[in-house]
Amino acid sequence: MAPAAWPGNARCALALSFDCDHETAELGSGGQAVGRLGWAEFGRRVGVPRILNLLAHHQASASFFIPAVTALLDPDEPRRIVEGGHEIGVHGWIHENTSTLDEATERAMLVRSRDVLEQITGQRPTGHRAAQWDLSPHTIKLVAELGFAYDSSMMADEDCYELVLDGAASGLVEVPVDWVRDDAVYLSFNRTPPTRPYASPEQVRDIFIREFDAAFDEGGLCQLVMHPFVIGYRSRIWILEEVLRHARARGPVWIASHQAVAKHALTAPRVRSSEPRI
Ligand SMILES: [Zn+2]
Repeated sequence: MAPAAWPGNARCALALSFDCDHETAELGSGGQAVGRLGWAEFGRRVGVPRILNLLAHHQASASFFIPAVTALLDPDEPRRIVEGGHEIGVHGWIHENTSTLDEATERAMLVRSRDVLEQITGQRPTGHRAAQWDLSPHTIKLVAELGFAYDSSMMADEDCYELVLDGAASGLVEVPVDWVRDDAVYLSFNRTPPTRPYASPEQVRDIFIREFDAAFDEGGLCQLVMHPFVIGYRSRIWILEEVLRHARARGPVWIASHQAVAKHALTAPRVRSSEPRI
C-alpha cells in the first residue's frame, strides 16, 4: 500500500505514536507494587503534558494508544489529547496479553475498550494496537468485524499493507510498528527480569533520524512508537524534538495521525510493488 504521493506534495509521511500504558503495565501483569505504579503515573503527570506541548509547538498531529483502564483512572488525559487535535486508539482493556485469551473473552474486552474510549472522548476509535503487540489467531478477524479501519501491531513491512483474512483482502490497513522504531526497546529499565537501557539517548536519536531519512529518500512512511514513561524524561524528550526539527528541516513532510495515514494508504494511487521505491 505504498502511496505514489503524499498529501500536500510531501516527500514522505511521519506517523508518531505514544502508548499510554501507564499503570496498566503493572496492573495488567497482575502486579500491585505501589512504587512501580508511581513510576507509571509519571507518564501521565509529566510525560504526556510534555509530549503534548512539544507536538503543539511543532504543529504535529499524532496517535495515542490508550488502554481503557488508563482512561478510566484519569478521563481528563484522553480528553486533553483529543482537544490537542490528536487521535486516540484502542490498546487493550488493561494492557492484557491478547494472545492468551479465548475468542469470546477477547471480543468482549475489545468492545468494552473501544466503548470506554468513545464514552470518555466522544470519538469512536478507528485504530487498534494490541498490547505488547501479541495478537491471537482471532485478533485481526475481530478487529475487522468490529469495523476498525486499521491495526498497528505488526512488523511485516515499513509501508502500510492490507491484511488478508482466510485468503481474502480484509480492507483493514496495517500501519506497521517495529521494535527498531520503539523507544522502550532501547531505553527501558527493569529489575526483574533484569533489563538495562542498551542505547544512549543520542543513539536512539540517530536510529530514529536514520529511519526518517531513509523513508524520506524512498518517499515512504516513517512510523515511530514511544511511551510517555520512557521518552517523557528531561534527558530524553529532546530525542522527539530532534526528530521533529530534523523532519521539518529536511523538506516537505506529512506529519499525520495513524488514522490519516491508513486512510490515505487505502485510497491513494499506489506504487506497484515491482517498482523501486527510490
Ligand atoms: Zn503498550
